[in-house]
Amino acid sequence: MGRLILVSNRLPVTLRRSGDETTLVRSVGGLVAGLGPVHDSEDSLWIGSPGGEMDDIRRKTLEKHRLIPVPLPREKARRHYEGFSNGVLWPLFHYFLESANFDPQDFEAYRFVNQCFADVIANHAKPGDTIWVHDYHLMLLPSMLRQQLPNARIGFFLHIPFPSSEVFRVLPVAETILEGLLGADLIGVHTYDYSRHLGTAYRRMLGREVDDDAISWEGGRCHIRVFPLGINAAHYAELGQSPEVQRRLRSWTRRVAHRRVVLGVDRLDYSKGIPLRLEAYRRLLISEPQWRKQVLFLQLAVPTRSGMPQYRRLRQQVEQKISHINGEFGDPGRMPVHYLYRSVPEQELSALYLLADVAMVTPLRDGMNLVAKEYVASRTDNTGVLVLSEFAGVASELGEALSINPWDLDGTARTLSRALSMDPEEQKERMSALRHRVLSKDARQWSRAFLDTLSSFSGRSVSASTSGSPRGWQARLHREFAAARRPLIVLDYDGTLTGFAAEPGHAQPDTDLLVLLQKFSKVRGLEVVLLSGRDRDTLAQWFGHLNIHLMAEHGFFLRMRGKEEWNEIASDFDHSWLPAVEEVMISYLARTPGSFIERKHSGLAWHYRKAEPELGRRQGLELAHHLTESFANRPLRVLKGSCVVEAHHQGIGKGWAYRTLLHRLGKRDFVLAAGDDRTDEDMFRAVESGVWSIKIGAGVTAARVRLESPEELRTLLALALEARSRNQEASRTLTAVPGPSKADRAKSAAVTRGSAGPRRSRTLGKR
Ligand code: UDP
Repeated sequence: MGRLILVSNRLPVTLRRSGDETTLVRSVGGLVAGLGPVHDSEDSLWIGSPGGEMDDIRRKTLEKHRLIPVPLPREKARRHYEGFSNGVLWPLFHYFLESANFDPQDFEAYRFVNQCFADVIANHAKPGDTIWVHDYHLMLLPSMLRQQLPNARIGFFLHIPFPSSEVFRVLPVAETILEGLLGADLIGVHTYDYSRHLGTAYRRMLGREVDDDAISWEGGRCHIRVFPLGINAAHYAELGQSPEVQRRLRSWTRRVAHRRVVLGVDRLDYSKGIPLRLEAYRRLLISEPQWRKQVLFLQLAVPTRSGMPQYRRLRQQVEQKISHINGEFGDPGRMPVHYLYRSVPEQELSALYLLADVAMVTPLRDGMNLVAKEYVASRTDNTGVLVLSEFAGVASELGEALSINPWDLDGTARTLSRALSMDPEEQKERMSALRHRVLSKDARQWSRAFLDTLSSFSGRSVSASTSGSPRGWQARLHREFAAARRPLIVLDYDGTLTGFAAEPGHAQPDTDLLVLLQKFSKVRGLEVVLLSGRDRDTLAQWFGHLNIHLMAEHGFFLRMRGKEEWNEIASDFDHSWLPAVEEVMISYLARTPGSFIERKHSGLAWHYRKAEPELGRRQGLELAHHLTESFANRPLRVLKGSCVVEAHHQGIGKGWAYRTLLHRLGKRDFVLAAGDDRTDEDMFRAVESGVWSIKIGAGVTAARVRLESPEELRTLLALALEARSRNQEASRTLTAVPGPSKADRAKSAAVTRGSAGPRRSRTLGKR
């Protein structure tokens, strides 16, 4: 089992130096509450920036606690944190478009810092480790890591909302951000809405198909799942009973002097909706004056990002509003709002939760909001009322709270009045249901659920079923290929030998690939077959000049090497369903601007990659369903591929093509069959044991082994070729040894023993 590497922008501690002693103080907040216990109990590393100067003593203190600092140049760190992370991503993801100020230099710093993280992680990661990256400061990191550590298991969790794609697309580097995340095997978000928005962004902006909440890309599959963050609820319940908290509670109770307490606890951030909350309270005091002497609004505002101008402005605005209300309705010694601008110890917070008759959690947007859960967890006697904004992520879990729209000031005032007047029975009913839910899903379960799901998506490039290291199987493959007398190589093209292009016509083979195939075509005894879903003309145009076999339309047509003409390898198919299917597809053409029909001999394909992605996807699902239902009694097969719905003759497929091919070419003593998608799985299932079936990319497969990318396959093939030439070289050298019969014997020994070739070559070299 590998280790867990946790990664967040800041390490979860602050270093304090007094005299010679350096101590660590754990930071507070949801992320630390969720991951702290994981780090304490597992063999994990936590990588993040230390947020201050570093020296050897500090570094060693951190390392003792398995904390690894990422050193960052000050100006880059500022631009990364204040500039792009909190000056663009934070406001935009919370729907404050007008507050997002995009500066390309900030984004460059963001990229730079993400790369610094990738380098430090790559230095510490070992094979088998799981890397879990956190939050919006590090959205490019998953793909940067994937480049450096292609086989790593990588998870990403976004702790803030993911906005509607209509808002997200405002970001000039939106596509880069989406690509940055794709390197993760799993992206976790707090709510179903955020996962839906993210999926839509991939569809609309990158034109990616999102199937089963996963995005397939050249390097693998990236899954999106919902994991609402929980709190350490039992701890809050216990904390409230401690003598220290009870002492603080008594002190507060004396100070509020029989007034009802409405509590707000927030970082002083514009997303928290504090000015509107205060205004709603003010309207209550105007419309229902009886509350003026009976209620105290206690607002705890925790300083945050105070170096940024919009946060300084917000502080002024909040403080002005409070003095306005106190000036309007207060008496000496009895002010309607009590304001604390600071962070308080946990015991004080717990006492405030116990003191409050009503908690107002009314953000304009909030990824989750843990204060709501902490309030609920603290109320062990099931009293108290939670007033909750419908725009907080936590609202999707806490349905028994009183829901408000924070922009509806009068509505919020009315709900606050209702909360203050709620009878104890109703309070109990609502609060016990809320408590039950909050206690049943704590922070530990959240991290466990994420990590268990991540480990279930561990399909990357590890050998699919052969034992031993990937290197081990590749060396074995090379030895077998070098020694084979009648080898066969069957290769799919798109996604296998080359990556995907947005336009199919743009995926032409590059010179390197053509040179490689040319070299293969000259190997004596070797048969090379390109088995593709593409049509005859394209294959002939791109590969016709090479001395290899071509199979078009998934094997429906075969062009033997050295020949000009194509043969339909099965002509007795029933074509009669084609016109009726085409008619249905034409009706979908009209309804889906940008879609088009590809007419093949073996069937029809309706493509929608140029259509509006949401519309295309919906119509594609409908068309596939329509065809499957309406033509159930006809000999056709309907396949839903990536932005395409295909209907072709039943029975035709790469498995069938592979068997036909073997029949024609005769028995082979080595077979390599490589492919990347569902159509290739037919072939993988059809091959005999002993065949080197190779799946390119992630996903469930029947293939024997797996490679990460077309580049890896090309390298494997090039090395196989070298191994074979070395082997032949060795055999030729042997032929030079007197006596032709002896040379023949040596050659055949190399073939049957497999590994004899290279070994013999080394022996000869020594001479
Ligand atoms: N909190 C704190 N000190 C305080 C007030 C609040 O540590 O003086 C904590 C609070 O217990 C909660 C967190 O800050 O766990 C706020 O998390 P939330 O999800 O509500 O908002 P965020 O600050 O993450 O936007």
